[in-house]
Amino acid sequence: MSPMTKTGLYIHVPFCSSKCNYCDFNSYAGRIDEAESYFEALKKEIELYYNTMETNLIDTIFIGGGTPSCVNQKYINEVLNLCKIKFNISETCEISIESNPGTLDIEKLTSYRRSGINRISIGLQAYQSNLLKYLGRRHSTDDFIASVELAKKAGFNNINADVIFGIPEQTMEDWAETLKVLVELDITHISAYSLKIEEGTRFGDMLERGELIQVEDELDRNMYHYAIDFLRENGFEQYELSNFAKEGYQCKHNLTYWKCVDYLGLGAGAHSLLEGERFSNKYTIESYIDSIEKGLKPVEERYKLEFSDKVSEYMFLGLRLNQGVNNSEFKKLFGQDMFSIYEESFKELQQKKLIEICGERVSLTPLGLDLANQVFMKFV
Ligand code: SF4
Repeated sequence: MSPMTKTGLYIHVPFCSSKCNYCDFNSYAGRIDEAESYFEALKKEIELYYNTMETNLIDTIFIGGGTPSCVNQKYINEVLNLCKIKFNISETCEISIESNPGTLDIEKLTSYRRSGINRISIGLQAYQSNLLKYLGRRHSTDDFIASVELAKKAGFNNINADVIFGIPEQTMEDWAETLKVLVELDITHISAYSLKIEEGTRFGDMLERGELIQVEDELDRNMYHYAIDFLRENGFEQYELSNFAKEGYQCKHNLTYWKCVDYLGLGAGAHSLLEGERFSNKYTIESYIDSIEKGLKPVEERYKLEFSDKVSEYMFLGLRLNQGVNNSEFKKLFGQDMFSIYEESFKELQQKKLIEICGERVSLTPLGLDLANQVFMKFV
């Protein structure tokens, strides 16, 4: 019998209590009353994949959104239970859920633990009330502290906090305070992203009207490097451009994306990579449910990856990781030598001090971390 293919599973929950000013995710405020029909559809989608997933071993599950913690926990339990019946789930499966402060209580958290969830991600974003208000977040800093304490009480020892830097009005002192609080709370994983102003968001509109001034690049980069240094001094390893973990607490699910491992995405707008094909689901809640009700897989677009796509994805996703990309692995996967294919690009990037080559390994330099997009463009 051939070995099973290790596969990640992503489950999208598109509901939120309110819409944050910077958010361009597939998430909707004020529609939680549609959760019942949405989760019914999710369960049917699991059934639709039952036969195709026979040879896949799910070793990570990520319930993301949106804010999965804003819906009743019974929906999450039902979906996970069905996954356990229909799919092969590894015994050591990492099961994560995203949440927001103010939507968690001990009952909900205990129920998550009972259904096998062993990692929780909590959206803090910033520790200062003025910044939370500016970002359009509903919760307070006290809500965040309470959520972390409740999560620990419920038995979670693998806790991530999402934070943002480069927010207009955020000072270096604010940023340092946010990180210090996380270290003091003994959080095991931190995702720290620079604020991006996206079109179609409230911030995007404000920028267009001249009501928002973006932070200077220099301050943004100083904040980034402050995080790298401060978190290193406090026992965190930076293992990806924006992700930091205590030893043994890297997010296995996100590593599947960066390492181009197969994953199946369920729910509205979810993306998948299975057997060399990328596909995405119908984006809106209505079109997603509609497809499922017709008994169809709710796929909107499919793209079969060519050899050149696979190689290119391996490079620009792998270079996000601090360990970089490795020629031995590359040869095993693609039967070719990475240094021959990218000789010119490597030479140029090395001259610009954006990458370093150490034996079989290529990774970003500290300057390359700042100018990562310039590097990635070379491989697209
Ligand atoms: S909680 Fe997250 S998904 Fe929901 S609106 Fe805010 S940023 Fe978007």
